[in-house]
Amino acid sequence: MAEKFLNYVAGEWVAPATGEYIENRNPARTSDLIGLFPDTGAAELDAAVASAQRGFERWSRTPAPERGLVLKAAGDLLTRHKEDLARTATREMGKVLDETRGDVQEAIDTAYYAAVEGRRLFGRTAPSELRSKWAMSFRRPIGVFGIITPFNFPVAVPSWKIFPALLCGNSIIYKPSEDVPHSAHRFVEILLEAGLPPECVQLLHGRGETIGRAIVEHPGIPGLSFTGSTETGSRIGEVAGRLHKRLSLEMGGKNAQIVMSDADLDLALEGVLWGAFGTTGQRCTATSRLLVQNEVHDEFVEKLCYEARSLRLGDGQEAGVDVGPLIHEAAREKCERYIAIAREEGATVATGGGRPAESGLADGWFFEPTVLAGVEREHRAAREEIFGPVLSVIRFDTIDEAFDINNEVPYGLSSSIYTRDVTASFRAVEELDNGITYVNAPTIGAEAHLPFGGVKNTGNGHREGGWEVYEFYTETKVAYVDYSGTLQRAQIDVDW
Ligand code: NAD
Repeated sequence: MAEKFLNYVAGEWVAPATGEYIENRNPARTSDLIGLFPDTGAAELDAAVASAQRGFERWSRTPAPERGLVLKAAGDLLTRHKEDLARTATREMGKVLDETRGDVQEAIDTAYYAAVEGRRLFGRTAPSELRSKWAMSFRRPIGVFGIITPFNFPVAVPSWKIFPALLCGNSIIYKPSEDVPHSAHRFVEILLEAGLPPECVQLLHGRGETIGRAIVEHPGIPGLSFTGSTETGSRIGEVAGRLHKRLSLEMGGKNAQIVMSDADLDLALEGVLWGAFGTTGQRCTATSRLLVQNEVHDEFVEKLCYEARSLRLGDGQEAGVDVGPLIHEAAREKCERYIAIAREEGATVATGGGRPAESGLADGWFFEPTVLAGVEREHRAAREEIFGPVLSVIRFDTIDEAFDINNEVPYGLSSSIYTRDVTASFRAVEELDNGITYVNAPTIGAEAHLPFGGVKNTGNGHREGGWEVYEFYTETKVAYVDYSGTLQRAQIDVDW
């Protein structure tokens, strides 16, 4: 019988009141049942919110440098458990071990950055326009934050949200993706072992439509941080707007790598293979469009197809595997649907395009690394997020045309250009309409201490990571201290 996991509410590990559980299976071998995780009902949220509010009362009064020590301890524990956490994440999510090790490393980096921020969280002082008066701003925590996360970075994405939220003095209610609940369970265990007071974190497993939706709507949760699809994020945004909640949305992408004819083509080839097929294309920053300049197009696409065909599919836990499975059958069917659409629109499948034939892969949700050639900029395969190992190749003539193609999609997360021309490089940095642009590097590769996020339908203006996320998790308060002993009226009693 598979192990039954629990929620963490009001300082205790508890079974869901519904008595219902969701199966968590290994996407590379669906016969491998990892465990059963709570299918939490909406009615169970009240107790978690009440507890998180108590946690907030205590934690928000703990000095920020002391809060930082808990995050430092969490970073140390993540470091100690890096390998077993990576294995846990690969088993339930599918990507290869090297990538889940990177996933955990990103959480470690985020923890240490947050720990140090406990000694910063800067406010400002400004000169007052009146004599004997001080004017200053400082940062205050907000309250209980609802944290709703996707499946593709089971450790890193939660850490981007949870560590800064806690460092700033908030408490959290964490609703992980129902596809990667085991990593979430381990994450919360580590927070508690690091010394986080129990009521500062509540873990509620379950479905987006039940417990996720309840978190978004609950009046006792003033802040929400969501990463996931644009479709889900838009629905959350409507509710959060109506309820005046602070909301950070990190959503879909349709990222392009541009290859200019003067580029180091071997480097560009390595970049696109990693960008398009790493994490089986299931990254918000995955390269899903390749824009290649006419002069080098045919040669480059031929080499790309050759290399894509030689990537080894398999269980991400095994050595030598390059590409793991998709997260579930629905994701595979979505890839198949888009390949049919691309064919109807006139593109050709240059390599891949279906389920692999090897019998050893029959029990997993595998899909071949796929290159669609002859895609036109108006095709759906050129504009819509597929979220799988499917790369649309579009040819272009001039750099202006490449920039227009990059910028005309509704998303704006990351972009990349390969060129040896310094003018083209800096034009790309300025003109590509994305939150992140890479020069001579693939569309992925964010570092924890820089802001991360996108424009247009990818986000709502906030950033994760870096120094900016601390703005999101705090409210600015201003204080004026007048020690003149007289009534000084601003803008009126100014004597100059
Ligand atoms: P998803 O939108 O299906 O689910 C994300 C989370 O939202 C899950 O925990 C889910 O249970 C929950 N959810 C679903 N419906 C909900 C509702 N009505 N109310 C509240 N919560 C709800 O996304 P996914 O398939 O897990 O992840 C893939 C998507 O995430 C892709 O679109 C990808 O681009 C995006 N993503 C974006 C970033 C970024 O930083 N921009 C990072 C990673 C992934």
